[in-house]
Amino acid sequence: MAHDFIYTQPVKIFFGEGKFGQLGSIMEELGVQRCVIACGRHFAPEARAMQEKDSRIVAVFGEVEQNPQLSGVVETARLCREFNADAVVGVGGGSSIDTAKFAAAIAKGDGEAIEYYHGEKPFPAERLTIIAVPTTAGTGSEVTQVSVVSHGSEKRTINNPVFMPKAAIVDPILSSTVPPRTTMNTGLDALAHALEGYWSKNHQPISDLMAVEAVRLVMQNLETAYRDGSNMEARANMAYASLLGGLSFANPKTAGCHACSYPLSEDYHLPHGEACAFTLDSFVRINADERLEELCHRAGLTGTEELAERIAALKKLAGLRSRLSDLGEVNMEKLCHDCAVHGLMNNNPVHMDEAALRAMFEKLA
Ligand code: NAD
Repeated sequence: MAHDFIYTQPVKIFFGEGKFGQLGSIMEELGVQRCVIACGRHFAPEARAMQEKDSRIVAVFGEVEQNPQLSGVVETARLCREFNADAVVGVGGGSSIDTAKFAAAIAKGDGEAIEYYHGEKPFPAERLTIIAVPTTAGTGSEVTQVSVVSHGSEKRTINNPVFMPKAAIVDPILSSTVPPRTTMNTGLDALAHALEGYWSKNHQPISDLMAVEAVRLVMQNLETAYRDGSNMEARANMAYASLLGGLSFANPKTAGCHACSYPLSEDYHLPHGEACAFTLDSFVRINADERLEELCHRAGLTGTEELAERIAALKKLAGLRSRLSDLGEVNMEKLCHDCAVHGLMNNNPVHMDEAALRAMFEKLA
């Protein structure tokens, strides 16, 4: 066991069924007087209804897309300035939360969003309060200092303490409407976070504990949540697993499987969870060692082989793309190169160069 580590987690977490109903009192506790809600279309009507009842909600940006674009950040930040907001509430999947985080970080700045996006300008010292409200059970973005935003086809992960929410409201009821396929995508993303945090070169004991529990919960609840979205016990267990998954990777960071997810999303347009799931069982086999065996046993599995097989079975159950032939025409050279040079690949416990990645992808032909 490592006895030398730094563990940081500054987000105040409100977890439980119905907790979103306490948004007003949580805003009061944080001293928020005027907020903008950033959300996707599924939540926009509800957000506007909330705005009519609570004058502290001064505007709604309800157009966040999957793999969110910088233009949504620009519009949310513009609303913050126009209505003199002091907070942004991101309600939705990771896309909405990441849009809220980025907008809150730049609303008080005098630079263009693209300058912050490319790191050409430091983020302003003054920023708005971020409240993150996940409605999917997957990204864990509510407890990370990461914002993932696209500009055109470029998808960038920006890791900066300015993106850390002040509060996370995790209310499993909000996830009860997630369609089955998205339930599977996002649930496998939560599993990927737990596994990648655990096998990351920078793994550490507190994160490891949460990873084990997240893997156990996903393995026991994801199929039920997929088959019966109204099963609140499975939804609540998945919401908790997702939160723990976020906490598992927030400090050690993710690794090879996430590195590969970027080219798979950018060039083949897989949603984030599906892109992570694409190589997750492969990486379970590649990264299998004594520690991973131990995680499997502690999570109630017989070992790494069962873990890999069950991931493959879950992907098949939901019809997720899992072979290169599902992606259309694949440029193997570019795919292997882009995966190999992604920064997170350095965090994988097993060295993966282009040749090793080609061998992995050839098995998925
Ligand atoms: P998403 O936010 O893109 O949402 C997927 C779809 O589900 C959208 O169409 C959305 O409108 C819909 N949806 C969300 N909640 C719903 C609900 N309750 N009912 C019905 N529909 C609902 O998907 P996601 O997987 O949650 O987030 C993916 C994004 O998060 C990617 O851009 C990914 O790179 C990023 N991400 C960020 C972090 C981080 O730490 N910041 C971590 C992992 C992933």
